[in-house]
Amino acid sequence: MLVSPVVDAAAAGVLGLLVGSFLNVVIYRLPKMLERQWADECAQLQGKTPDDAPPFDLTQPRSRCRQCGHLIRWYENVPVLSYLVLRGKCSACGAAIGLRYPLVELATAALFCYSVWHWGATPAGGAWCGFSAAIVALALIDWDTTLLPDDITLPLLWAGLIVAALRWNDVTLQQALGGAVAGYLSLWLVYHGFKLLTGKEGMGYGDFKLFAALGAWFGWQALVPIILMASVIGAVVGIAMKFSTGLREGGYVPFGPFLAGAGLTAMMFGPASILAAVGL
Ligand SMILES: [Zn+2]
Repeated sequence: MLVSPVVDAAAAGVLGLLVGSFLNVVIYRLPKMLERQWADECAQLQGKTPDDAPPFDLTQPRSRCRQCGHLIRWYENVPVLSYLVLRGKCSACGAAIGLRYPLVELATAALFCYSVWHWGATPAGGAWCGFSAAIVALALIDWDTTLLPDDITLPLLWAGLIVAALRWNDVTLQQALGGAVAGYLSLWLVYHGFKLLTGKEGMGYGDFKLFAALGAWFGWQALVPIILMASVIGAVVGIAMKFSTGLREGGYVPFGPFLAGAGLTAMMFGPASILAAVGL
C-alpha cells in the first residue's frame, strides 16, 4: 500500500487510461510494422534492396486523422476526455473516431484499477497490470489481423515464469513451467491432429504460445478450465455473430481473443471458478 487502497487503485486507473491509449497505437501499428518487416525480408531474400520507406514504428510518424491527415495535437489525444470533448469526431474534417479507442482506454483502466485494488500497490499488482495490458493488445490484434505477435506472446510467457520464480503469485515455478510446456504441446497436438484428419488449419502457432503463456501465469492445473472457458466464450460470440453479420467480416474467427477472455476471467475470478460456472 502506498497511500490508501482507494487512492492507489484510482492512480492505477489513471495509469491504465494512459497505457490504454498506448495500446491503441500498438494494436494499430504493430501488425503493420510486422508486415513491413516481412516484406523487407522477402525482398532481401530475392536479392532486391528493400524500399526506402519513411520510418514507421510505435513513436513515428505522429498520429494523424485517417480520413484527412489532420495531425492529432496532444490535447486531442487525452484518453477518453478528448473523445468526449470532440464528440467522437475529427476536429478538422468531422470524420468519426472509432468508439473502440475510448473503450480500450476504459477497459485497460478498469483492469489496472482491479489489479491494484485486489493485489495492492505491490509487485503482484504491477505484474497483473502488465498481464492485462498484454492480453488486451493480443485479443484485439488477433481479432483484427488473426496475428498473435511473438513480440507480445513470448515476453508474456517469460514474465509468467519470472513472476512464479519470484513468488509474486501463488503458482510455483514447477507449476508454471509445466503449464507453459503442456499449454504449448496440447494445442500443437490438437492442431496437427485436426490438420491430419481434415487437411485444414484450425488455429495458428500464436495460439500455442498464448496458451503456453497462460499456463505459465496460472499453472498447469488451470489449462483445462481455461480452454473450456475460451470455448464457452467462443460459442457465445459465434452465436452472436450468426445474428449480426457485421460483427466480423469474412469467415475465419481467430481463437486468440477467446483465450485472452479466458485469461482475464481466470485473473479476476480464479481458474477454478470457470469450472464452477460450467457446472463441473
Ligand atoms: Zn480528419
